[in-house]
Amino acid sequence: MTERLPQLEDLPPLAGRSVLVRADFNVPFITDAEGRRRISDEFRIREALPTLTYLINHRARVTVCTHLGRPEGRYVPELNVAPIREYLKEIIPGVTLMENLRFDPGEEANDPEFLDHLLRHFDYYVNDAFGVSHRPHASVIGPPSKVPSAAGRLLAREVEVLSNLLDGPARPFVAIVGGAKVTDKLAVLKALAPKVDTLIVGGGMAYTFHRAMGHEIGNSLLDEKQLDACRALLAGPTRIVLPVDSIAINFATEEVRSVGLDVPEGFAGLDIGPKSAAIFAEVIAGAKTVLWNGPMGVFEDERFAAGTRAVAEAVADCDGFTVVGGGDSVAAVNLMGLESRIDHVSTGGGASLEYIEQGDLCGIAALRNSYED
Ligand code: AMP
Repeated sequence: MTERLPQLEDLPPLAGRSVLVRADFNVPFITDAEGRRRISDEFRIREALPTLTYLINHRARVTVCTHLGRPEGRYVPELNVAPIREYLKEIIPGVTLMENLRFDPGEEANDPEFLDHLLRHFDYYVNDAFGVSHRPHASVIGPPSKVPSAAGRLLAREVEVLSNLLDGPARPFVAIVGGAKVTDKLAVLKALAPKVDTLIVGGGMAYTFHRAMGHEIGNSLLDEKQLDACRALLAGPTRIVLPVDSIAINFATEEVRSVGLDVPEGFAGLDIGPKSAAIFAEVIAGAKTVLWNGPMGVFEDERFAAGTRAVAEAVADCDGFTVVGGGDSVAAVNLMGLESRIDHVSTGGGASLEYIEQGDLCGIAALRNSYED
């Protein structure tokens, strides 16, 4: 047993050995004019290159496995990995890609027979799938107990960045949390509150806080069950910065209106307003460490994208160490072409939140306790 996360260099000699790499190639697809499935964003595949290149350069025989979508244990033709296999062949020849792990119910059930079958031809295992390392699935937690195992470059970097955020961040440390899933994210806010200097809350979540403070929120998102938890956070020692204005819509008339702290009846707040964006940007500008998860509004709709754009730009402009995690905030950063100005763009939304909340993930713990000769 070892407390350290084993790295690629810790694996026994690789030449001529077969290595199974668990990657997260769960990429988005579009269907083109000829009805063919095409990958619309290859980011996650390219991110695996440093690990795959290391293994190939050390003359290992490399096979990659991944899940794709939610086929729920049966073969779904639209979720086969053929287009990923084609792309992978273009960018790194000589690597084999297995079929979608989740076509077999044994993957998500962590079935021991499935695990034995999966590992039958392999000498070593590498986990480079940070985005699923919080899932107790066979290909994530099983192999380290059976064969020498290591973290891939991507996983190792994610763990390094996130653990540094939790252990010794440069201050002030500002976390910005947005999005819509109040219940999920409240657990994260609670975990973050004692670690950060300022917590900026935006997006749909902010209205439950506003309601807890007695403001009118019209038809904006509300999670009644979380009102007490919001009050407790507001009463705590961490500085919490909330929006002071919103861009709201009346769904019946389609009228979009700029409103203040209170959202009038019949309207729903779908973005933070310009005053809030300016306040948030100022707080972010003064930060030495920034963690951003979740959009400030319904940014998929251009009418409600300005708040998310302003925060993305403020994070990109910040001189401190900046980390963006979570599918939607990463998508927003990519859409705005700002990814090169962010220090770390996390590949795993749910996984990074769970890491922040619990300080560990089951897939990472499995590697730390991995089999040793
Ligand atoms: P999450 O998965 O919790 O990060 O939520 C992301 C989703 O939250 C995005 O699809 C946004 O459209 C949505 N969202 C952000 N702000 C709001 C809002 N004020 N009202 C409703 N949905 C929102």
